[in-house]
Amino acid sequence: MPRPIPTAEELADRLAAGERRALARAITLVESARADHRAVAEDLLARLMPKTGASLRIGLSGVPGVGKSTFIEAFGRTVTERDRKLAVLAVDPSSKRSGGSILGDKTRMEELARNPAAFIRPSPAGGTLGGVARRTRESLLLCEAAGFDVILVETVGVGQSETAVAEMTDLFVLMLLPGGGDELQGLKKGVVEIADLLLVNKADGALEREARRAAAEYHGALNLLSGGPDRVWAPPVQTCSAVTGAGIEEAWETMRRFEETMREAGRFEDRRAEQAKSWLHDELAAGLIEALKRDPATADRLPAVEAEVMARKSPPTVAAKRLIEAFLAGGR
Ligand code: GDP
Repeated sequence: MPRPIPTAEELADRLAAGERRALARAITLVESARADHRAVAEDLLARLMPKTGASLRIGLSGVPGVGKSTFIEAFGRTVTERDRKLAVLAVDPSSKRSGGSILGDKTRMEELARNPAAFIRPSPAGGTLGGVARRTRESLLLCEAAGFDVILVETVGVGQSETAVAEMTDLFVLMLLPGGGDELQGLKKGVVEIADLLLVNKADGALEREARRAAAEYHGALNLLSGGPDRVWAPPVQTCSAVTGAGIEEAWETMRRFEETMREAGRFEDRRAEQAKSWLHDELAAGLIEALKRDPATADRLPAVEAEVMARKSPPTVAAKRLIEAFLAGGR
């Protein structure tokens, strides 16, 4: 028997009271593709909006194996010991391609999963980056409404997911491996540029010296990428060990300093406002595409137009424009 769908009102009350099962259920509704689920999810989000916004939203990325889940365990301990509640969300567009999710693995972060002040949610399997990112933004708001004051959005350092995560968080942390500073670990310059904090992990044992050297190299490389004249924050490069715990508190202190600095300069709220605006534009684009795909008249015309384009009888730009104009003239 399918579970009855709770009303948005009931869920909102339970969620605002900090009931974890209500939060988990709400996220499931947000992630669902079913129209009736989406309707409840949207009603719920609208109700909860006044309760959102009070957390520090942190993005974390790094290649598989850099130590993200080990770091989150240690970081979660530090943060929850300071009476904060931490929610961890994942953006993982890899699942569709590889057949298995890199971040969704249930055995990751076992200790944190048992911590009553923490909430962990793996990303939904499959789907496009755009779809996963859209839902993660909504899940983040739900976590805030449920009283979580630090939200960590994790992603693997592959593809475009870093940019998507940076666009939904206040602070983007890039985690790096010691060594290999000279090739900058195949990092696209763009990812280093959007980082607000670089953390060289595994600074322990035989790797410690190597980690420090790598940090110094990244520091030098960052100085070359000079920020604009109105920059108020120069992204620091720090070392840490997720295993020994060295540098984890310092990383948290830097994050707090970042928030303070940005707030004082008026940049914190500005950044969020810009993010909300670009989210609106993303939703507009996605919503229009969905409406177009659902339109029966467009579906009827599409095969012939596709054939035309494939036979090079008309350029795709012209064909697309024709379809869109016909769709808009349809009075939608
Ligand atoms: P993820 O794929 O980025 O989530 O990486 P994991 O957290 O799963 O870590 C990958 C491997 O690196 C595991 O074997 C960890 O035990 C190890 N590891 C993670 N952090 C550290 C660290 O600070 N020092 C050392 N020496 N090993 C680490």
